[in-house]
Amino acid sequence: MTNHDTLRTFDLGNGKSGHFYSLPALEQAGLGAISRLPVSIRIVLESVLRNCDGKKVAWSDVESLARWEAKAPAAEEIPFVVARIVLQDFTGVPLLVDLAAMRSVVVKLDRDPGIIEPLVPVDLVVDHSVQVDFFGSGEALRLNLDLEFSRNRERYQFLKWGQQAFETFGVVPPGIGIVHQVNLEYLAKGVLSKEVEIANLKSRLFYPDTLVGTDSHTTMINGLGVVGWGVGGIEAEAGMLGQPVYFLTPEVVGVHLTGTLGDGVTATDLVLRITERLRQAKVVGKFVEFYGEGAAALAVTDRATIANMAPEYGATMGFFGIDDETVAYLRGTGRSDEHCQTFENYYKAQGLWGIPRQGAIDYSVEIELDLASVVPGVAGPKRPQDRIDLPALKDTFEALIEKPLADGGYGKTRESLELGFPVHLNGKENKNPTQSGDVVIKNGSVLIAAITSCTNTSNPSVMLGAALLAKKAVELGLKVNPAVKTSLGPGSRVVTDYLEKTGLQTYLDQLGFQTVGYGCTTCIGNSGPLHPALEEAITGNDLIAASVLSGNRNFEARVHQNIRANFLMSPPLVVAFALAGTVDIDLTSEPLGTTPEGKPVFLKDLWPSTEAIRTAMASALSPDVYRKLYSDFAGQNPKWNDVPSSTGEVYAWDSDSTYIQQPPFFENYTGKAGDIENISAARPLGIFGDSVTTDHISPAAAIKKTSPAGKFLTEHGVKQEDFNSYGSRRGNDRIMTRGTFANVRIKNLMLPSVEGGYTLYFGERLVGAPDKEIASTLGQPTFIYDAAMAYKQDGIPLVVIAGQEYGTGSSRDWAAKGTSLLGVKAVVAQSFERIHRSNLCGMGVLPLQFPEGVSAQTLELDGTETFDVVGLSNDIVPRQDVTLRINRRDGSSMDQTVKLRIDTPIEIDYYRHGGILPFVLGQLLAA
Ligand code: SF4
Repeated sequence: MTNHDTLRTFDLGNGKSGHFYSLPALEQAGLGAISRLPVSIRIVLESVLRNCDGKKVAWSDVESLARWEAKAPAAEEIPFVVARIVLQDFTGVPLLVDLAAMRSVVVKLDRDPGIIEPLVPVDLVVDHSVQVDFFGSGEALRLNLDLEFSRNRERYQFLKWGQQAFETFGVVPPGIGIVHQVNLEYLAKGVLSKEVEIANLKSRLFYPDTLVGTDSHTTMINGLGVVGWGVGGIEAEAGMLGQPVYFLTPEVVGVHLTGTLGDGVTATDLVLRITERLRQAKVVGKFVEFYGEGAAALAVTDRATIANMAPEYGATMGFFGIDDETVAYLRGTGRSDEHCQTFENYYKAQGLWGIPRQGAIDYSVEIELDLASVVPGVAGPKRPQDRIDLPALKDTFEALIEKPLADGGYGKTRESLELGFPVHLNGKENKNPTQSGDVVIKNGSVLIAAITSCTNTSNPSVMLGAALLAKKAVELGLKVNPAVKTSLGPGSRVVTDYLEKTGLQTYLDQLGFQTVGYGCTTCIGNSGPLHPALEEAITGNDLIAASVLSGNRNFEARVHQNIRANFLMSPPLVVAFALAGTVDIDLTSEPLGTTPEGKPVFLKDLWPSTEAIRTAMASALSPDVYRKLYSDFAGQNPKWNDVPSSTGEVYAWDSDSTYIQQPPFFENYTGKAGDIENISAARPLGIFGDSVTTDHISPAAAIKKTSPAGKFLTEHGVKQEDFNSYGSRRGNDRIMTRGTFANVRIKNLMLPSVEGGYTLYFGERLVGAPDKEIASTLGQPTFIYDAAMAYKQDGIPLVVIAGQEYGTGSSRDWAAKGTSLLGVKAVVAQSFERIHRSNLCGMGVLPLQFPEGVSAQTLELDGTETFDVVGLSNDIVPRQDVTLRINRRDGSSMDQTVKLRIDTPIEIDYYRHGGILPFVLGQLLAA
């Protein structure tokens, strides 16, 4: 049989019919109990079936996935051809740079540059570049946008070039919204179609909306029943050039939701509880599917909040099926009635309608969660899975203050909590004159309070909850302490529309939560500078200052370099903690402020009822508002229109640009596969502990003046105030390579007492070595980048040694690209985060894994060793064992077996070609 045997028609609901590849027909043909497969697996199966051409996708791939075994999924590689791609600007710009570089190579080879063209629609939303420089005034939005455009002009010119050079590449300009919220509210169609010829007749073929995105939280769209997840830019690039996204057949964890949320419990409380629960259940690398009557009763916006945090609970996806709620959301957000009818009919015809009830589906593992058991809480201060019941925050924070640094605490005394440091806020010293007067700050003082992140800004219930709480606070005469940097960063202009219509925006304004920008802001670490006097007080007194934010990530230095306690929470709690001014408080029993008359005010006095939120929400889903705000972006954004851009199919690289440079990935391009060989006498560039994030490896935040990247920019005439962030300079490999392992909080255990991007260099090249012999034996402390370049000159390969969960955090292809460009040939870790492992393969860096119980510590590595990797040849197979030979300073050596974490056959091909980009380019040139 072939996939054509499963072609069927269905009624579109407008008197016409369309074709589809039918899953029920596949089941009738005897390919297994397909109707008992998880909905997410069936949607992937539809793609495999539809794209089965005997070349990229074989019939055996269809059979293998159709016979998915819940309890023991076969370790098969699934070729998943997605329907579209979404990008944000931090990850999208380097991807466009690579596409432009490919066109330049193709032209050099005398071929048509047009062969490099995305084969599926690509949408890039510019949301990651707005920073909170201005806040607390009605002018903040305009001033931040002005700064954003002046800082990012070169990048925006480049994006506009891309928009005209590639037919299938669209850009949503700055100031419109956050990628995942824009995807949910506008880009996602739920079902797509294209014109095809069937039996010599033209017809429309319908298929599910599926995607990958270059941002971990792409999973938010799973709340709308769309299958999709975050991949590295490298994989997305291959996907847009017609390669399937490959992944191993997953286990699917079914989470059975029962009951309903209690009064006063928010969707944020629920997602933090789910994150905690699923982290314990170890769902890393698995699909999670929510089902049962509890899931069915959740609004799509609540489902999206839960789906958003899949990376935090470790899953590939957090999926909800398709039902009446899904259609109601599509209708409410302005998708046409005709489209909604077709959407409904399609999923009904596929047998994919409805959130499954218990017993209907075979899941690999089933987990129970009663929504009624969820209570308000926060998560932090460093990891999203560390949830704390609201009443326990005070005790938890105080215990952490005393806990030694080595145990994850702050290593201070309990008495230090009492010490107050007076700070004079002179309005002239910063850009926000509203932040003035005398304040006292302590350990635990809240200095940033941000309503941020698409996780929550896409959910009107929590946004309106925050606004209603602000209303009560204003009415009772409460004020926010001037030390707190307050901000509101909605994920789309729809939020402003409903906050204005309900008359609630004014209350947020009065507490300093004016809109600062329609973008990621604090969620991505673009929290902007603190008042200089506060910065000085924190660094001068080593204070543990706090941030409270409605974001999804809080690891060290993510939110702000000098704020070390970061708590995730719902938007209403953000407002409440801003009013309290401290996290060293039990908001359930202590007052968060007093009225002008001196009467204490408690959280319960401000908390809005579920009924009040529901009433306000009636105005949130107004189809006409969505239609109006999501049309004619260019016309609505004159600043974008004013950005001049070059034209033509091939980009004219400017060698003076500090933002966009032609990357060196194709420098020695031969178009042929190379030989796989052992690695010999490699030096360690770093030995790292557990949970090294992609942000540690390739930071997104500010560039320090004294760092290699800072020095490079200064040498190229860029003033410090124009450095911008690493994230915004991802189109320039020279900055990004210098920024690799440059996070100020990374700890290289080769230099145990030092924080930041330093290593020990064992060589004679670097000036300043006190004694060449000592330096080559004991090592010379230096910047990681400088050491790597010195090793490169001598042709010495490098390795990185790491602990558990290496590369966790946001998908960030520069974490792999930078590692590769530094000359690292292998990363040996106790375990890897899924995307980062695959990105390392995609950049020609070998991921190797220690066996259980073996680590740098058990092997007593101190960085003075050299390493060989033995057993590598053209005959390697995925996940085979190889040998790591450790040659110690005293002349002894030992062999340690490690697992090759090249997981799939296609990754071996990528590795042999020097990475995925040369591999794909070769395929396109050969076509
Ligand atoms: S708001 Fe946060 S989670 Fe959402 S896209 Fe931006 S950085 Fe990612």
